[in-house]
Amino acid sequence: MRVELIDPTSGISGTPSFGMTVLLNEHTAIDAGTLGFLWPISRQRQVSRVFLSHSHMDHVAALPSFLDNVYGTGLECPTVLAGPETLKSLQSDLFNDRLWPDFVRLSEQGPSFLHLQQLSPLETVEANELRVTPWPLSHVVPVLGFLVEDSCSAVAFLTDTGPCDSVWERLNACESLKAVFLECSFPRRHEPLATASGHLSVTSFAGEIAKLRRSVPVIAYHLKPAFHEEIVDEVQRLQQPNVEVIQPGRVYTF
Ligand SMILES: [Zn+2]
Ligand SMILES: [Zn+2]
Repeated sequence: MRVELIDPTSGISGTPSFGMTVLLNEHTAIDAGTLGFLWPISRQRQVSRVFLSHSHMDHVAALPSFLDNVYGTGLECPTVLAGPETLKSLQSDLFNDRLWPDFVRLSEQGPSFLHLQQLSPLETVEANELRVTPWPLSHVVPVLGFLVEDSCSAVAFLTDTGPCDSVWERLNACESLKAVFLECSFPRRHEPLATASGHLSVTSFAGEIAKLRRSVPVIAYHLKPAFHEEIVDEVQRLQQPNVEVIQPGRVYTF
């Protein structure tokens, strides 16, 4: 499985940007915070499914530009898959003709911009050769983490979330688990803010990885750019040999 964090500004700033998109095998995306900035546009046109974890802006901000960029190519339009609350928010808060044209209504009147597909927790969806299972996490709005499997590997993507026990029980039972991508939004000094906003600080991140009983890499991602260096330093001080911080633009293969 090919995994890449799409981050068009990291090569300029050296620091990951605000938005989140993880691209899997070039055809499936998790979140669309940066998907519309993936370059060249021909790479965007290879993406046929976009799984959204939740409705927050850092996860959906570049969805409108992505749908614009891939529209009218003659190919089947992309499918956007999300939980019911996220789909409702997309339609009422984003595609409402005020923030952005109502792509859902326009898709009923002409060539489609997108298909919407509702996800249910623990119900697996096929995405070409991948199987994607959404799991509920703990955040200030309903959010889904994803376990993505192919014929030999399983990789978990867990953001945005605060501490959550049930997901670790499932991961510990997953024989083919090869890696866990886990959010680490804040440095230790902002643990109260992390708790209040449904995120992990390095302190609670350490508490979560202690629940993992499988010897697989844990890759910290979703670091707030303003605290990037501080979080990297604190994660390194955990001195956990299987824990690293994500490198935007690096292609991970599992
Ligand atoms: Zn969020
Ligand atoms: Zn987020």
